[in-house]
Amino acid sequence: MSETLNLDWGKLPFGYIKTDYNVRCYYRSGKWGELEISSSERIDLHMASISLHYGQQAFEGMKAFMGKDGKIRLFRWEENCKRMQSSADGILMPQVPEELFHEAILKAIKLNKKYVPPYASGASLYLRPLLFGSGYGVGVKPADEYMFIVFVTPVGPYFKEGFKPVNMLLVHNFDRAAPLGTGNIKVGGNYAAGLKAMKVAKELGCANVIFLDSKEKKYIDECGPANFFGIKNNTYITPESPSILPSITNKSLEIIAKHLGYKVERRKVPLEELETFEEVGACGTAAVISPIGKIIDYETKKEFVYSKDGNPGKISTELYNALIAVQTGDKPDEFGWVEFVD
Ligand SMILES: *Cc1c(COP(=O)(O)O)cnc(C)c1O
Repeated sequence: MSETLNLDWGKLPFGYIKTDYNVRCYYRSGKWGELEISSSERIDLHMASISLHYGQQAFEGMKAFMGKDGKIRLFRWEENCKRMQSSADGILMPQVPEELFHEAILKAIKLNKKYVPPYASGASLYLRPLLFGSGYGVGVKPADEYMFIVFVTPVGPYFKEGFKPVNMLLVHNFDRAAPLGTGNIKVGGNYAAGLKAMKVAKELGCANVIFLDSKEKKYIDECGPANFFGIKNNTYITPESPSILPSITNKSLEIIAKHLGYKVERRKVPLEELETFEEVGACGTAAVISPIGKIIDYETKKEFVYSKDGNPGKISTELYNALIAVQTGDKPDEFGWVEFVD
């Protein structure tokens, strides 16, 4: 067994902790160069770089887990790679080829093995691939140089006090993304657009915000940086919308839900349907599922209560446990979602 650091893994935040190495690759003169290993946390960037001024930037987020068997497991990385390629297409950046993406994430994990949290600590190694226009200019046009970086950082369990429901603020007066805009790709600009709404939510004691579709304001769109789902009549229902970021966690939960015998629907979810759900939640890599105990409508002050006893719903819990079991290797990987890192 390789050396592991002596950190208080269970108390780690979802934050940044310095590791030993990151990997980088430049795209110059129309082609990708060699993957480089760096021990610096800094990048040397031109002050007129297109990414800084015109937002040509995309990122990914994924996790690696230590299993009981001492093997490191990487969850559905091909999906993250495809999504980063689609983000690149959306804002005219070159795609990172699958082999390069794969090599970069494996290298970043292997070089920082001692930062992979131990089995059953609830913590994991978070991987952050980042692609941006490093080339400079003042006129608006795609950059002529790009940089692809992968860094890793150990992150603690999302729920420090266990798997517990949170409150969410439903907003009518903020939009995160437009139907034909960049909502469906993972670019930083969407996050900047959501910060104000998030601040309002936090001030009102909510974990995050639920956005409505920005065109008609009739349908549930996204849950801040996570996808939304509702459960009723043994059916897992998640919104269909052109401005939603396709969450890999959500896709995985849909497959698991079917596997466990539930029905799955991906369709428009009208605002009025909120009161009919038995359970609702937000899903994404960071928490897998954040069960929602209460939704507060910021305009009408109406409250939708899903958890009266402070506990998550039965089906949300079942789905959560099933997905975590695949990620950590507690259950056999029947779906072919896990790759071992040796
Ligand atoms: C990354 C992200 C998600 C979650 O996607 P996962 O692949 O499940 O981590 C959901 N919504 C937004 C806006 C995101 O950026």
